[in-house]
Amino acid sequence: MNDITARRFLVVIETQKVKSYLFASPIMRETRGGSVLLDALNRKETKRILQELGHVRYEEIYLGGGSGRVLFENKHDAEKFKKEVLELYRRETTNARVSVEIVERINDESFAEWVSRGVMMTQQNKLGRVEGVPVLAGRWIRPCTSCGSEPAEMTLSEHREHWLCRACSLKRENVNGLYKEIKPTKRGSKVLKSSSALALKYTDNFIFSTLAKYNEEANCQVFLPQDFDDIGQFSRPSNYMGFIYADGNRMGETIKEIGRLFPKDEDAKRAYKAFSEIVDQATREAAVEVILKVVDFEEWKTADGMYRSIPAEFIMAGGDDLMLAVPSHNAMDVAVLFIERFQEKTKQLQEDYVKNGKLPKPFAEKGLTTSAGVVIAHTNYPISDLMSLAGELMKIAKKKSAELLHTQGCETGTLDFLALTEAGSVFLFKAKGGREPLIPDENGMGWIGDNNGEGFGHAVLWHTFHIKQEKEAVL
Ligand SMILES: [Zn+2]
Repeated sequence: MNDITARRFLVVIETQKVKSYLFASPIMRETRGGSVLLDALNRKETKRILQELGHVRYEEIYLGGGSGRVLFENKHDAEKFKKEVLELYRRETTNARVSVEIVERINDESFAEWVSRGVMMTQQNKLGRVEGVPVLAGRWIRPCTSCGSEPAEMTLSEHREHWLCRACSLKRENVNGLYKEIKPTKRGSKVLKSSSALALKYTDNFIFSTLAKYNEEANCQVFLPQDFDDIGQFSRPSNYMGFIYADGNRMGETIKEIGRLFPKDEDAKRAYKAFSEIVDQATREAAVEVILKVVDFEEWKTADGMYRSIPAEFIMAGGDDLMLAVPSHNAMDVAVLFIERFQEKTKQLQEDYVKNGKLPKPFAEKGLTTSAGVVIAHTNYPISDLMSLAGELMKIAKKKSAELLHTQGCETGTLDFLALTEAGSVFLFKAKGGREPLIPDENGMGWIGDNNGEGFGHAVLWHTFHIKQEKEAVL
């Protein structure tokens, strides 16, 4: 009856343990390189493998945001594709983990059930460790100077000698693909490439392509921070940063809802594709727009044009996941605005898709929501610990979002935050709409937003006797 019925083999790709791969080393360059590399493999290289399969009958449903869904007519082709994807990740990253499962459709299974079953299978196999190369007995091993855990294989001399493992040196090589060299300026000589150059290597749907595009609209070229201290320099108080970790709410339930709303295969497939694209686009665009609106960047003019130095790190932005590092005083505003804009965008994009005939009808009338955890800490604080803490806070925020939905029928994103301060310092969180900064009470509890339950959280090591003095300094 339709095309899908003939294509009974679904290949589900899911990158796994992304955070342990990204934060293996505390150095920002390696984290950024790892993130960029995963995006290139997922969005671009996997597609290239598909195209090079020749006359094979396949249909790509979606590739991006660390996942992939492709239909094949015959099992042999699906297996060939699977083998090449696994080999690609092993060769290009050494140790990033990716699960690839081939799922044959069961009679009478709906499209949504079929996809969900495949995703579940990838989760069961996510611990399938990539085989390492055995080290020869008796060989003296020097640990990698970046991640400190894998044996080093190659040296690199920059300011001093580095001994890097293969995984870290691949990350370091890849990060250079983001920049082009210009005449030296006060912020160095490496600017972000143009959006068209980045699109060639990573596709249009890549966070740095999106960032470059928005800045080109203002005729500006962009300098990125080179380490977390670069972000801390822009921060008030200085040497602090905010780590933001956001993740879409109830994504699994939305997919089930798509199954209910669209019983026909063809509609379900289009809705699933639209859902994946919309979530990814909303995450990237909301993140870039909010950073450019909230974060105090530096802008200057030279004979060669306008430059911007933006003290924000897009650690991960794809699918429904977002991880950002920004100056500490911007972190709460960035998080609150991102949460709002993500919901607006997912609502607006569904309307656009319906208008353009790419979606039969909306799958979430009020838009989709996201919840965030924010940790404010010194830039010396280990980044992987910040990520874990922010992840825990995000889970608390998600519970609050679910509670608001079930008790009040209120579909909204939420955030929870924590400030890790050194004795004597105080953080004030400014509410949106130009209100007075909110000062948490003696228990350290404070609200952000306009008391509609948008966020709640607490600061630790709060020193009330410092508030007045600090408040004047901030205002
Ligand atoms: Zn290493």
